Amino acid sequence: MDKVSVMKEIDEITDTYCTDCLIIRDLRQKRGKPGAHKFCIESCTVGEQLQFLGQELMKIYEK
Ligand code: SF4
Repeated sequence: MDKVSVMKEIDEITDTYCTDCLIIRDLRQKRGKPGAHKFCIESCTVGEQLQFLGQELMKIYEK
């Protein structure tokens, strides 16, 4: 995948799932930003996918 495709996919996923995510909104209030972020990374499949795409983007930039 090229840089533009990865960035587009990240945007699409965040727009579709994260922008109005009620889970993150609730967790931010209960656990604060770092706790909510931890949940996204460790316990959400969407977060997992975003993390994977972020790593792909890093690989592209490192080339
Ligand atoms: S990664 Fe998951 S929990 Fe976090 S904002 Fe996106 S959809 Fe919500």
